[in-house]
Amino acid sequence: MSCCGKKLITGTDAVAKLNKIKNIAEGFAKLAASRVGMNFEYAQERLAICESCENVTWLKDKEFGAWLNENKIEVLKNLDSLENITDLPLKPHRALTRRYCIKCKCNILAKVHSREERCVEERWE
Ligand code: SF4
Repeated sequence: MSCCGKKLITGTDAVAKLNKIKNIAEGFAKLAASRVGMNFEYAQERLAICESCENVTWLKDKEFGAWLNENKIEVLKNLDSLENITDLPLKPHRALTRRYCIKCKCNILAKVHSREERCVEERWE
């Protein structure tokens, strides 16, 4: 389907992508709420599992941005299934880094707070 010569995303693909965006937004909102004292017990349980997982990487914003720039077409095509594209680079914890899952590419703190998100390796649900 197109409009004004531009392609629109339609059908189940569009619903899946919109759900992913909703989950990301929910995860960041609940992460912000947890930082001001709200307790999300399920998020703590999930985070404990992620903390012992070999798929955790620590990236500076510019490193994540570089990966995103390199893979932007694939990211847009696979927004609802990012585990199917190239893994994020594996880096150790350093100053000014954030924690990501190399498989699903999610910010882990936000991901564990989103009720509908699932671990792509089925380590938690
Ligand atoms: S989401 Fe799953 S695969 Fe990713 S870091 Fe957490 S436990 Fe590991």
